[in-house]
Amino acid sequence: MNRRTFLASVVALLLGGWRWRSSPLSLDIYIVPGGGYPYELPPLPYPYEALEPYIDAQTMRVHHQGHHATYVSNLNKALAELPAFQSLALEELLTQLDKLPSSHRTTVRNHGGGHWNHTFFWPLLTPKPQSPSSALQKQISAAFGSWDAFRGQLLDAAARHFGSGWAWLVKTPSGQLQITTTPNQDNPLMPYAEVRGKPILGIDVWEHAYYLKYQNKRTEYLSAIWNIINWEKVEALLG
Ligand code: MN
Repeated sequence: MNRRTFLASVVALLLGGWRWRSSPLSLDIYIVPGGGYPYELPPLPYPYEALEPYIDAQTMRVHHQGHHATYVSNLNKALAELPAFQSLALEELLTQLDKLPSSHRTTVRNHGGGHWNHTFFWPLLTPKPQSPSSALQKQISAAFGSWDAFRGQLLDAAARHFGSGWAWLVKTPSGQLQITTTPNQDNPLMPYAEVRGKPILGIDVWEHAYYLKYQNKRTEYLSAIWNIINWEKVEALLG
């Protein structure tokens, strides 16, 4: 490598780093279909009682019509005061939160994150328990050693996460699969995430997701929800 190509490589590296830090993620990040500002509460892809006995109808109703609807409404209120950001896709807003005026950044982080996370989450659950395909099991096992190791790591991270938040399976920009958790309504798209990348699977570990049925027994909720994960959807997201 001569001096000139060496310098070109250094510049390319620096530019790459700069692009990464300043976002957006160079991924197919448009995971959640439909809608822009003003955002609307998407209907659940199944009836409220469809996930019984694993998740009860009352929890689903309060979670969707109460919590998720509030995230949508507060996100719209914040964006009403930010006309320059209204035309961005929600993923673009979330990957570039650091560009928002500080007066509205936390609201968009919490409520935009809440809207994205729940819109992503509902279709990842299914009323018809299904087994992961052998192709998916193979792909996951290659990353985590075995399917059981993957289940153990993900549910353990979800169980141990302190307070409200989410546990995630993430595909990083280099194509690695990683497990991580985020606090509150943060997600791996955000510049604040420890592991950034494309979310493949997210598990809501806020108490509002399980408290009516499981009270403080988060691990029982996690064992239950494992039965109704839509592995077809996970496989499609993995690509
Ligand atoms: Mn929730």
